[in-house]
Amino acid sequence: SNALPGAAPTAPAAHVAGSSSDVVVVGGGVIGLSVAWRAAQRGRTVTVVDPAPGSGASHAAAGMLAPVSEVTYTEEPLLRLGLASLARWPAFAAELSAESGMDVDHRAEGTLDVAFGSDDLAALSEMAGFLEKLSLPVERLTGRECRRAEPMLAPSVRGGILAPGDAWVDPRRVTAALLAALSRRGARVLAGRVAGLLSEGGAVRGVRCADGAAIGAEQVVLAAGAWSGSLDGLPPEVLPPVRPVKGQIMRLRGAPGFLGRCVRGIVHGSRAYLVPRGDGEIVLGATQEEMGFDTRVTAGALWELLRDARELVPGITELEVVDLAAGLRPGTPDNLPVIGPSGMDGLLLATGHHRGGVLLSPLTADLVSGGPDPDLAPLAALCSPLRFAEAHR
Ligand code: FAD
Repeated sequence: SNALPGAAPTAPAAHVAGSSSDVVVVGGGVIGLSVAWRAAQRGRTVTVVDPAPGSGASHAAAGMLAPVSEVTYTEEPLLRLGLASLARWPAFAAELSAESGMDVDHRAEGTLDVAFGSDDLAALSEMAGFLEKLSLPVERLTGRECRRAEPMLAPSVRGGILAPGDAWVDPRRVTAALLAALSRRGARVLAGRVAGLLSEGGAVRGVRCADGAAIGAEQVVLAAGAWSGSLDGLPPEVLPPVRPVKGQIMRLRGAPGFLGRCVRGIVHGSRAYLVPRGDGEIVLGATQEEMGFDTRVTAGALWELLRDARELVPGITELEVVDLAAGLRPGTPDNLPVIGPSGMDGLLLATGHHRGGVLLSPLTADLVSGGPDPDLAPLAALCSPLRFAEAHR
């Protein structure tokens, strides 16, 4: 189920030594590819450099576009970014499907967050109140109403809240479609690892690949996910403070209609979720671990994922396991992404999307490639890379 058609052919970076383009994007995850696609649509010549596009966190991600059910009280800025990006998703998905000829399985049937114990129920009710105060759509459901909405739910579910506006996509289809759309627009996708940046008089002028290739650019966009903090040739105050936050996730083969919407809940003190795809696949997620650059799939994590998902939806134990994956989310100190001018001429950052990079990709592409849009200014300010520079002074 993982092989998707339509990926752009990649050439080794060494074959294009000495070349240049308007924009070079370092990293071909959902963020780098979205930025590259929007730049190519605006008529700029674009090169993406990545040893394995679409293989990073974007390959592991569940693809929930769920700013409302992901929100916590301390994260109102993140909620604003998420809502702005969620609003962009229907048009982004439609346009991407039209250009690539590929469906990205964009669905908008909402998220059902359920509770078992009275503490969890109280926490959900408080959350519903918080969302109502922000005039966000939310419905409170009894246990019976939850099960009527999702018959596969455990009988012990006591109640829940439905966020009807939440949506989801298949991130593997999204990166495959972005690669196909980039190829149709004539953008280059090179198989290479960027080792460092080329700079001249304090300005970034291109990238240097590990195989020695140099690619000149007017503008370099650093979108290397959890690896964005480890490039050579940048002063420390310019390098984004991202760290890898490991997530393990499992895919099962269900029948279409097994679940109608995303289902989540707090089980054994941790958040578990199930995401249904159009073809019947059910995604179980996800762990959150501070383990450095470790992408091993571990027995303990899989046990926890199954244990927690089974509490929510007991019938999953009948389903076939089709895929196990681990990915590294690019975490930042304040959980907000790092998007925009880096403080160094010629270098833009588009990273640090942590748990929400799929959700935030349309907004990120607009923030990086868009013209001066007054509506975007307050959102751009929230993501500014310069907020961390203070710490280095
Ligand atoms: P990545 O997808 O990691 O891409 C970075 C790319 O950079 C990689 O392809 C890598 O090969 C490349 N690269 C690295 N170093 C170099 C270099 N030196 N030169 C060139 N290329 C380089 N988000 C949501 O919105 N919804 C979800 O439901 C969701 N679920 C998730 C579940 C899990 C288990 C995980 C791990 C993440 C989840 N996320 C989710 C988060 C989301 O996956 C990330 O925020 C997003 O994928 C980040 O995209 P990215 O393009 O920045 O990074």
